Amino acid sequence: MKYEKIRKQVLEAILDAVDMGLIKGTSGNIAVRDEEEDVVAITPSGIAYKTMKAEDIAIVDLNGKWLDGPYKPSSEVPMHTAILRARPDIKATVHTHGMFATIAAMEGELLPTTPPQAEFVPINIVPFTMPGSNDLADLVVKTLGDGRAALMKNHGMICCGKNIKAAMAATIYTEEMATTQYYAKSAGIFKPLPEEAVQKMKELIAADQAV
Ligand SMILES: [Zn+2]
Repeated sequence: MKYEKIRKQVLEAILDAVDMGLIKGTSGNIAVRDEEEDVVAITPSGIAYKTMKAEDIAIVDLNGKWLDGPYKPSSEVPMHTAILRARPDIKATVHTHGMFATIAAMEGELLPTTPPQAEFVPINIVPFTMPGSNDLADLVVKTLGDGRAALMKNHGMICCGKNIKAAMAATIYTEEMATTQYYAKSAGIFKPLPEEAVQKMKELIAADQAV
């Protein structure tokens, strides 16, 4: 099988996301860029993830052209490849319809409440745009900037990282942040992490990653 490593990474990550309840049915999609070649492994469109095999994962080029695999690539291929083209530091992108991230996108803000969440802020919001469109891809790149996560209004979220582990961590912590914010606000006791603590945590994380 060609591009076995990135295909397996996509498959494992999508199954983890299903197990964690971040992905239901065939919603959500994940892309991983090969370290040496300009190719990307991405989940296929409309295929049940639970029974999917590594060879079922589609391979596209950086412009989203379908190169290999039996099934059509995800309809969100323009969004994933646009991020990978714009951000050489990013090798993996994860798009999910996490319930609490979707709610936070309606509300209009998402703030961290625990130290590990600080790594992923600020998290800006992409206005509603038709799924799968080049317009959405452009807006996602613009909203993400040099960040790790963005919410998508009336849709979900898009997260990224230097590898699949980092992109999944951004996804998990963004949903956790949104969940905590939702319950704390519902209880009328929401207290986000102080801005100074957020900055201090970001510095610590950056220093650790620089080692
Ligand atoms: Zn979606």
